[in-house]
Amino acid sequence: MNRPSPIKTAAGLVVLVVLIIALSWFSNRVWDVKSETLPEPDQLAIDLNMTVSQFGQANDLPDPLLKIIFGLEGKSELNKKLGDFGTAGQLASMVEKKMALAAENSSKNWMKIFLKFALWLVFLSLIFIFMKKQQHVSRFRKGLLFASVLLFGIVMGSDPSPMGTVKDAIHLYATVKVVFLPRLIALAVFLALVFLANKYICAWGCQLGTLQDLIFRINQSSRGKAVIGRQLKLPFILTNTVRLIFFLVFTAAAFLLAWDIVDPLDPFKIYKPAAIGLLGGLFIAALLVASLFVYRPWCHFFCPFGLAGWLVEKISLVRIHVNYETCIACQKCVAACPSTVMAAILKQDKKTIPDCFACYACREACPTGSIDFSMKKRTLPPANFFKNPAGQATSCDRIPVRR
Ligand code: SF4
Ligand code: SF4
Repeated sequence: MNRPSPIKTAAGLVVLVVLIIALSWFSNRVWDVKSETLPEPDQLAIDLNMTVSQFGQANDLPDPLLKIIFGLEGKSELNKKLGDFGTAGQLASMVEKKMALAAENSSKNWMKIFLKFALWLVFLSLIFIFMKKQQHVSRFRKGLLFASVLLFGIVMGSDPSPMGTVKDAIHLYATVKVVFLPRLIALAVFLALVFLANKYICAWGCQLGTLQDLIFRINQSSRGKAVIGRQLKLPFILTNTVRLIFFLVFTAAAFLLAWDIVDPLDPFKIYKPAAIGLLGGLFIAALLVASLFVYRPWCHFFCPFGLAGWLVEKISLVRIHVNYETCIACQKCVAACPSTVMAAILKQDKKTIPDCFACYACREACPTGSIDFSMKKRTLPPANFFKNPAGQATSCDRIPVRR
């Protein structure tokens, strides 16, 4: 079979990115995407002798918003004095929190968000059923990944995303001590999906995860060899340490400096091109190029949801399971796995099993059909099962016919 040429592969990546940016720009215009800028508390004019109405005029706040902020029932209550609601400091804090929540609320297109979650549930369920029946997924893989990019990124936009729920929840609480309930519900839904079926949402539903996955697969021949350069499997201890440090720095910057360090880099903005700055553009370009050589670099090195999901994965109900009664220890699954997960699963080192993205590459590579994605309990391989006398992978001489 002909190996794809590096030039065609590079051109494919460029065309893909240009297509995403152009179509996303158009889609944002159709959805009329609004920004999520929080009000600046320092700019508030507060005088305790003002009425609520005067306070609204001084700060350019419409009456309906004033009613929400101060919990007013009728128009006449707009004449209450600001001093009736507390000290200047208490008022500033209250106004800041309520305005932050109002800004969150008004920036959301609720119809679109409900539609996106409904589409996620349908799409992921269909893929789950399809994958259960279909052993050979590689011929459909790029099409399914592109469908996810198209649907959940280009058409439905950058928000919401699993990553955004973690990042924005932490940032909002750190800066104005406010919890935006709909976002917590969205985060609970995403984590519940991880609890149910490993990182299925990341594997097939996250608009950025599937884009990185697609680029990684574009740089592979049908035999799984890299077309441009080499594809590396980085040690989990390295990627997870960087991810943990990034998370801690992000959290510290949010609490101590009210600074969202992810925002200028946020690669989900590829689906909101008007919001990409110079730094973000350079970072996104580097990330997409890195995706040719490393499997899902953002997920492994930076993503806050990647980190949270990795912890929940430990108790996932449905996950990759190996039947050591039929396994012949050839370790073709380890070679097929785009990261170091399968090697760790075979070693049964439970604490350091990296993120498994339920991509099914290992199951497809197994010549004896010993791998499935099921609720079965993971079992230990027999002692020394994966070592022949030379310390190499066991030979595949005794491969039985696939069942
Ligand atoms: S880990 Fe990757 S796939 Fe999962 S939410 Fe983060 S970016 Fe998306
Ligand atoms: S190849 Fe298997 S173990 Fe590796 S990420 Fe995919 S599903 Fe998980």
